[in-house]
Amino acid sequence: GTKHKGNIGSLIKDKLNDICDDYEIAAFQGRETFEELTISTVHDKTRANIKIQDGCSQFCSYCIIPYVRGPIRSRNHNDIIQEVKKIAENGYKEIVLNEIHISSYGKDLQLKDSLIKLIEDIDSIEGIERIRLGSLEPNLINEEFMKRYAALDKTCDHFHLSLQSGSDNVLKRMNRKYSTEEYRNNVKLIRKYMPEAGITTDIIVGFPGESDEEFNETLEFVKDIQFSRIHVFKYSIREGTKAAEMENQVDDSIKTKRSKELIDLADSISNEFMNKFMDRDLSVLIETEKDDTIYEGYTTNYLKVLLKSDINVKNEIINVHIDKIRNDYLLSE
Ligand code: SF4
Repeated sequence: GTKHKGNIGSLIKDKLNDICDDYEIAAFQGRETFEELTISTVHDKTRANIKIQDGCSQFCSYCIIPYVRGPIRSRNHNDIIQEVKKIAENGYKEIVLNEIHISSYGKDLQLKDSLIKLIEDIDSIEGIERIRLGSLEPNLINEEFMKRYAALDKTCDHFHLSLQSGSDNVLKRMNRKYSTEEYRNNVKLIRKYMPEAGITTDIIVGFPGESDEEFNETLEFVKDIQFSRIHVFKYSIREGTKAAEMENQVDDSIKTKRSKELIDLADSISNEFMNKFMDRDLSVLIETEKDDTIYEGYTTNYLKVLLKSDINVKNEIINVHIDKIRNDYLLSE
């Protein structure tokens, strides 16, 4: 697995000098503490991904991660705050709290409300202007969480709520821990507090045993929720998982057909969502200079924007008037 990744430099050096063993095997489920690693990933010096935990204890039937990355280990609250302060001093405006299962943040330390408390403390750090969350388990969302999250100044109205299937039977076979009804109610809660929130998700098509009827339930659910963007994946076998041993593996040609159908639907729904923002002024963090006068950035609800500007606006948060939609971009000309 990835244990001792923080020591990778010295391990390589010792190996080159022939003063360490060839390998070390540790019991992966025995890990209890987060291995501190101060390097977070960054995007064009505007957005930084902050790692807040490692591992996962959910054991979805198709996923190998709990076996190779071990159980949930949360990073120390104060260490995260110190890293975010440094990132702010270096001029980054947006941070994304990220990793494998951030919804479990603090559970291993028996801390209550730990994720929202962390977000509240980050919200008061000078220099940080946007806080975004990585992929979330739908069950994280509740009235109390949304009330506190929406009351903050810097939190983005974007939620990546991992769905995987819109069929309750498939969700059970996947060993996911929510029903479509719970998912729907949580989306309603988000929109009660943040009406224009972008809800993005991941969906797997062709999970073992997925019937036409179950796939159609997913299509209907997707229409009902009105996602702003969907990432569609064709199920693929991960050796060592329960799903790899399931009967009724779906033929690849059916997976391809379902994937195309769902992507087409997702594109049209995403377009409907983007249309709501035509002729509006939106706050955009400019992340990339595409060429001399064209810049790319994101809105708070994670829509991609392209705009023309004669002056360098990179790493600025500016109000942009939206004139057009092209492919998956809002345009300002
Ligand atoms: S899919 Fe996500 S929640 Fe499920 S076991 Fe894998 S990492 Fe954990």
